[in-house]
Amino acid sequence: MEAPLARLIAQEIRIGGPIGLDRYMDLCLSHPLHGYYRTRDPLGVHGDFTTSPEISQTFGELIGIWIGATWRQAGGDPTAIRVVELGPGRGTLLVDAVRALGRIAAGARIELHLVETSPILRERQREALSRHDPPPVWHERIETLPAGPAMILANEFFDALPVRQYERTAQGWCERRVGLSPEGERFVLGLDPEPDPRISRQAEIGTVLTVPGVALDIVRRFSRSIVEHGGALLAIDYGHVRPGFGDTLQAVAGHLFTDPFETPGEADLTAHVDFAALAEAARLEGARDHGPVDQRDFLLALGLRQRTDRLKASATPDQAAALEAGFARLADPSRRGMGALFKALCIGHPRLEALPGFVDTAWRKETGHVD
Ligand code: SAH
Repeated sequence: MEAPLARLIAQEIRIGGPIGLDRYMDLCLSHPLHGYYRTRDPLGVHGDFTTSPEISQTFGELIGIWIGATWRQAGGDPTAIRVVELGPGRGTLLVDAVRALGRIAAGARIELHLVETSPILRERQREALSRHDPPPVWHERIETLPAGPAMILANEFFDALPVRQYERTAQGWCERRVGLSPEGERFVLGLDPEPDPRISRQAEIGTVLTVPGVALDIVRRFSRSIVEHGGALLAIDYGHVRPGFGDTLQAVAGHLFTDPFETPGEADLTAHVDFAALAEAARLEGARDHGPVDQRDFLLALGLRQRTDRLKASATPDQAAALEAGFARLADPSRRGMGALFKALCIGHPRLEALPGFVDTAWRKETGHVD
């Protein structure tokens, strides 16, 4: 318990008893002085993990095209497009998306709103988008976003939000909480002895349930706005399609898995996104959900192969090899790649149908079609 954040968390547990995983994750990721995202740029080869927009420019470009193709259908004004990104990292996705969108929506005003808590990443975003006109607007929280239709992007954002976990015991569902070992030297995950009566799901004893409370609140809020004003939310993340039983909390540092309780604030903590739960939350607010589809199917339907080949045609041999490696990583359906591990989910207005990227995936699956 040498590190300052570990000492603070231990102190909080000594005073008030074991804390929920959501509180633990929130402190680890967002503590104002020592939180993981507050103290570093975690992305890239020298960071802890690499995301799709950092792998290939094609990712952001195809999302830009998706925005252009969806905006009018979603009730937007063709001369003024509003794009919101949640957790924009280094701003790379927006730079690539806006470049592609600007070509297909020539003359349109593209207004950018970035929701970001990390001062370090905000600075990276500011540099990346310094030439964008009108200047982007930053928000600490989604509550300050302006009302009205918007295309909302969230790539590897929902996985970074705090979750709670429950375990089914003979007595009922009990919350898993972070406490201290008897000597007070380590954090240990224990069960609250009192069952939580709010959870009524049937499951075998020992089953773990992960509840993404913060993500659900965000989806509900945007769904309401989408139903009222129009627009759509596109979430791309690693996660599961069936409602989520299981413990998917994980910690990554230096591109390797580590123990989530070993070095609080020094490793990225995430949980697989429960797409079924997010889609259901959106439906309950009256919005319509599309997907989730595998990232591979989403990107291929938008033209990932064609765009990669187009760029390769005017590239040096080294650049062409890098583009092909990027294609493989984004679309590879094996466990090594992101093609099937990552999924795309869109939440839109009930009138929004047949969305690009989400329409012919059923046909692809049935026929085993491969590009
Ligand atoms: N979308 C980017 C970065 C993903 S990393 C990409 O694909 O490269 C997660 C991002 O979410 C970071 O920018 C991080 O600072 C931000 N973030 C994490 N928790 C947040 C919160 N509660 N509110 C706003 N941003 C958050």
